[in-house]
Amino acid sequence: MKIGFVGLGNMGGPMAANLAAAGHEVTGFDPAGVSAEGVASAASAEEAATGADVVITMLPNGDILRSVADQIIPAMAPGAVFLDCSTVDVDSARDVAAQAQKAGLSALDAPVSGGIGGASGGTLTFMVGGDDAGFATAKPLFDIMGAKAVHCGPSGNGQAAKICNNMILGATMIVTCEAFALADKLGLDRQAMFDVVSTSSGYSWSMNAYCPAPGIGPKSPADNDYKPGFAAELMLKDLTLAQQAAEAADADTPLGAAARALYAQFVEKEDGRGRDFSAMLPRLAARGRE
Ligand code: NAD
Repeated sequence: MKIGFVGLGNMGGPMAANLAAAGHEVTGFDPAGVSAEGVASAASAEEAATGADVVITMLPNGDILRSVADQIIPAMAPGAVFLDCSTVDVDSARDVAAQAQKAGLSALDAPVSGGIGGASGGTLTFMVGGDDAGFATAKPLFDIMGAKAVHCGPSGNGQAAKICNNMILGATMIVTCEAFALADKLGLDRQAMFDVVSTSSGYSWSMNAYCPAPGIGPKSPADNDYKPGFAAELMLKDLTLAQQAAEAADADTPLGAAARALYAQFVEKEDGRGRDFSAMLPRLAARGRE
């Protein structure tokens, strides 16, 4: 396939490189001037999109997605697929999909889980919203870039799945860190706590796969001085998207709201920016009850 790829950052770069390595003809654009292995460089987003069967975007937020969509949709041929893999708000995803469909394109929102390791290893999970025909066209590309693609329903449902997943992740990471900090003060060894919880009913991805305590469990950013990994500010972004969606849908999400408030405090008022989201553990362990 002929693929345009716009946004060759930490995630987009390796995803585009994997598509090129699998034999697809990939042309990429990123205003930061970064490139990816095997990917031809275009001078603009329009140029990357022109003549492509599928255009993939991997961008920081919904406003940038909207502005890039304005540039590339007119350059795309009817019948082509606009495949956005960024994490953005549900409204931006649905608006951009409607704009693409009006221009005769198939549109999919397909945010990912799996982080930078999943992007370079080709093991991402895609959560996909959009029509069946677009999903069928994109499925071979999901199979190259990822290990799993779930079709979640119409446009916007991929983003809905992503923010629900990450709301769970943010809350479980915080409570896992709280439990380690409490265990410290109760004189319970961290390794003993991991050994119990990771095989008991308190287990979770945050504890078992991404343990926030250094030296315990599988290797995680805690073992690398909390360098991201998944930065606290990205978790704040996703928790903010979840709260925006909950407000728009009149959904009661008290723990999601508390998790967002705590990451906002950590990133905006403390030293959380640029640290992994699991650095909530040293933050909590250093504090007393307020
Ligand atoms: P990044 O900042 O490394 O990459 C984004 C890229 O978009 C940058 O290279 C930037 O130059 C480019 N860009 C900005 N404005 C542009 C424009 N107008 N036109 C074209 N390109 C433009 O971010 P990332 O970590 O690759 O994340 C991308 C998306 O994936 C985000 O929505 C993020 O929430 C999501 N995500 C990230 C992770 C992760 O672990 N990093 C995991 C899952 C999902």
